[in-house]
Amino acid sequence: MNMLSPRFYAALFVLALGPLIATAAEDNNSTKNSFEKLIQGNQRYVNSTTVCHDDWIAKRVAQVEGQTPFAVIVTCSDSRVPPEIIFDQALGALFVVRVAGNVIDDIALGSIEYGVDILKANIILVLGHANCGAVQAALKGMKFDNHIQDVLAAIQPAVNATKGQSGDLLEKTIRANVMLVEEKLKTSKPVLANLIEKGSLRIIGAYYDLASGKVDYREKP
Ligand SMILES: [Zn+2]
Repeated sequence: MNMLSPRFYAALFVLALGPLIATAAEDNNSTKNSFEKLIQGNQRYVNSTTVCHDDWIAKRVAQVEGQTPFAVIVTCSDSRVPPEIIFDQALGALFVVRVAGNVIDDIALGSIEYGVDILKANIILVLGHANCGAVQAALKGMKFDNHIQDVLAAIQPAVNATKGQSGDLLEKTIRANVMLVEEKLKTSKPVLANLIEKGSLRIIGAYYDLASGKVDYREKP
């Protein structure tokens, strides 16, 4: 090939960009893989065919030198919604931020950023759940003379978003709260919004049904 020909330059261009294109494709694949791992884990839990909660000794030993979580889960403190159980994951797999009503402040955001930026988890799942007491209290306009009021204040935008709607207002407000937190994370700079733009992070909202154990995701893998 003539070194001055357009074909030579085209070939050079492809050579230079090749690794970049390959990296982007791998990242997309791995966010998809992470999402599918959560979906499959939840299916095992729903069917009571879990595989991750035995042989703790080997699993402990394997994670002593460092953790390698593939997902960040932002969910409620509710004792019925433990992420490692409902996604059938072992030690070191999930980086979890839990606070009543699955709302976030700057400290929670810092933890989430640590999970993706430093630990390299490539998916964030914001998980609300049926019969959330925190959302219910906010919806009822309950007043507390203590820090519980701060939790309700953080949920208030979701209450405002569904005001006057018909149907199951509690479920609608729980879902609206998930969406609002999801949006907050997606537009959070500098870390999260930049990773999303690069295609190396996905943020997904979801709703957990207490009775069936099923997680309903707002999008597909
Ligand atoms: Zn809750």
